[in-house]
Amino acid sequence: MSSYYITTAIDYPNGPPHIGHSLEKIAADVVARYHRLRGDDTYFCMGLDENSQHVVTAAQTSGVSPAEWIDRMDEAFRLAWAKLDCSFDRWIRTTEEVHFRAAQELFRRAQENGDIYKAVYSGFYCPNCNAFYTQEELTQQGTCPDHTSITPDWLEEENYFFALSKYTEKLARYVEEHPEFIVPAIWRGEVLATLRQGLKDFSASRKVRPAAYVDGKPWGVPVPGDPEHVIYVWFDALTNYLTAAGLPDEPERFEKTWPAAAHVIGKNITRFHCLYWPAMLMSAGIELPKSVAVHGFMTLEGQRISKTTGNIVDPVELAEEFGADAVRYYLMRDVSFESDGDFARANLVQRFNSDLANDLGNLLNRTVSMIGRYFERVVPEQPAVTGEREADVRRVALAAREATAKGIEAWDFDGALDGAWQLVRRANQYIDESEPWKLARDPEKKGELAAVLYHAAEAVRLLVIYLTPFIPGAAARMQAQLGLPAVQDGDWLAATEWGGLPAGTTLQQAEPVFPRIEVEK
Ligand SMILES: [Zn+2]
Repeated sequence: MSSYYITTAIDYPNGPPHIGHSLEKIAADVVARYHRLRGDDTYFCMGLDENSQHVVTAAQTSGVSPAEWIDRMDEAFRLAWAKLDCSFDRWIRTTEEVHFRAAQELFRRAQENGDIYKAVYSGFYCPNCNAFYTQEELTQQGTCPDHTSITPDWLEEENYFFALSKYTEKLARYVEEHPEFIVPAIWRGEVLATLRQGLKDFSASRKVRPAAYVDGKPWGVPVPGDPEHVIYVWFDALTNYLTAAGLPDEPERFEKTWPAAAHVIGKNITRFHCLYWPAMLMSAGIELPKSVAVHGFMTLEGQRISKTTGNIVDPVELAEEFGADAVRYYLMRDVSFESDGDFARANLVQRFNSDLANDLGNLLNRTVSMIGRYFERVVPEQPAVTGEREADVRRVALAAREATAKGIEAWDFDGALDGAWQLVRRANQYIDESEPWKLARDPEKKGELAAVLYHAAEAVRLLVIYLTPFIPGAAARMQAQLGLPAVQDGDWLAATEWGGLPAGTTLQQAEPVFPRIEVEK
């Protein structure tokens, strides 16, 4: 069994989750579910990045202790992802004691390798990015390039540095030789361009002023042997991927799980994941992750998502209003993973009604209803000899499986769903062409009628498997209507050959799985 370890970025809990966080989580969940269906030993990790100073600031603003604040946020984030059916196996919080030891272990290894040194650091520090910028990197107005409401302060302090510059050539060679390392390809070009300019060492620690101590201690992971300094929050956060895999306490599990197959991240943090992180791993003598999958940003109704202007959507409310499947389907279908996309409620409703209620829902409903009406709800035998049309449906069913797989593996979710929809459309068209309601009037056409309804029902069964990664809740309800046991891990390979639907299966009563969303004008 091959292992497939997938992670999302861990979010800063300085406020509750919003819809902008969810594309990444759902995309990673689709891929994790797909690998489980392929029978891979899948391990999916999500979590929170709790050690940054602005978590403390957010707690202070709300008048609660940082510990209370992160517990509250932890609950809010886990609730949101549960509502959206994200099937993570591990939820990591960087305040976990085991994670402190993992981050310190990595820091020590870098020290032992001669990659950590002390020097005075100065630069413009954005507390929201937890990153230093040079004058040229700031906007013309002097604000952070990622946070235009923040004007980073000039900061000078003695820090521990990580010798990133030492790794420039090694990294460039690695990225050149491993086209699969940064996907989709457009992001790889950007990283290579940065590498050609050469890399600067980065500050790997932060000195905490006693005034900023929480309960007598600096907030964060102490630098080994120098507790006034905490490990730079990015150095600490990136290590979470190793902690979740079993470093340092479970060497056997670590051996089995690492390297990660994919880190799923937003485009704003490629620098950390495609440059800092692989260099840190090289320094520590740890294998690099197989790929970093980078997604674009989402706007909301055409505007930048912003807490200040109130242009945010709560994923929990959204899931309660439309259901997790509608949100997941829409994000994967309409909001591009690779480039920037827009989230618009009207488009969600339109997508749901046209693709799920009309196309897929109709296919399921008419198939189950007609088997109910003409075969007393029992799936008929597939006749030994069938015609051209049936052969074509079988061909499209196989092609749809391949196209869906190819799309998911290439992080092209719209393409994957397009692939599955080839079969949805072909099966609906097949029913229209075959006119089972006419065949049913002629007792001599019972065999033809059986062929049509068997092919329709088998197409639905296959679609349930192809769509389980995307719309797990609805797929399970469709499967139940077919009277079949739940889809199992491994079914993508074991149960997608044509003819897997046993004749004699008793269907449940037809019930709409995708009732149309009616919106007031
Ligand atoms: Zn910033």
